[in-house]
Amino acid sequence: MKISGYTNVLAVVGNPVRHSLSPKLHNFLSEKLGRDYVYTAFEPSSFDGVAQAIKTLGIRGVNVTAPFKYDALASVDVVSENARCSGSVNTIVNEGGTLVGYSTDGEGLYLSMKHAGISTIGKKVMVLGAGGAAKPICVMLKNRGADKVVIKNRTEKRAALLAEDLNRIVNTDIFSVYSGEKSFDLIINTTSVGMGTQECSLDDISLISGAEAVVDIIYYPKKTALLRAAESMGVKILNGIGMLAFQGIIAYEYFTGEKVSEEYYTEALNIIDE
Ligand code: NAP
Repeated sequence: MKISGYTNVLAVVGNPVRHSLSPKLHNFLSEKLGRDYVYTAFEPSSFDGVAQAIKTLGIRGVNVTAPFKYDALASVDVVSENARCSGSVNTIVNEGGTLVGYSTDGEGLYLSMKHAGISTIGKKVMVLGAGGAAKPICVMLKNRGADKVVIKNRTEKRAALLAEDLNRIVNTDIFSVYSGEKSFDLIINTTSVGMGTQECSLDDISLISGAEAVVDIIYYPKKTALLRAAESMGVKILNGIGMLAFQGIIAYEYFTGEKVSEEYYTEALNIIDE
């Protein structure tokens, strides 16, 4: 990679963010595609002034991660339809001084599931969690043809608010709160339960039996207690590494205006998974 005074600057903005795998992924893509971009990380204590800094310094774009995805939504000049429905922005593109905000988390999970041979069409899905990650994933499930989405969350009121909000925003009635249903085609964990621990995000693992696949968006550990339980029951499993890689690939396409060929998908996944 040759960096010059003309090199386009990209970055991830979050706090903490030094551990992020995004620089590795994006710099790999620029290297492979021969594009003049460099990707680094910024760790400000607040999001104040970040939008102006992007404009003033002519930074081409940034990915935004916790805790700034909501600040980013409020800071951009134009919000994409997907980001509006998802209620957050994780990608900002500087289009000649106008900041455009996108949400690539939901579609990132969709591509990861597609790559793993897991379909969403016509499926009855249980979504565990009602936090920041749950919303873009629910929007994706509606856009990608799920039949019914049942939200189960520790704080039930939060699940009820999310289901109500989603039904209104995307003009549907497929979202509801868990009320004892027993059978699901897909189970997707979007809670932080199991991240770095042995805790299982699903209290009743008998709900797994009969499911086609169980997905956990957590990527550390690579196999959460939920995924290990599903695997032991012979159910297909998928962790969050693919979501992380694909949301980045989609963001890279927004930054560069160029489609990333599928031939690089497996290598990009390996870069993140190392
Ligand atoms: P968040 O907004 O803080 O939401 C956390 C969710 O987890 C809420 O539903 C919360 O329930 C639930 N929860 C937390 N502790 C719990 C506990 N002890 N028992 C039961 N439920 C609990 O977080 P987020 O941004 O949605 O992120 C959630 C996870 O997704 C994190 O592990 C994050 O790293 C991961 N993630 C992965 C990717 C990827 O690319 N793979 C992308 C985004 C996020 P309450 O509402 O009851 O508090």
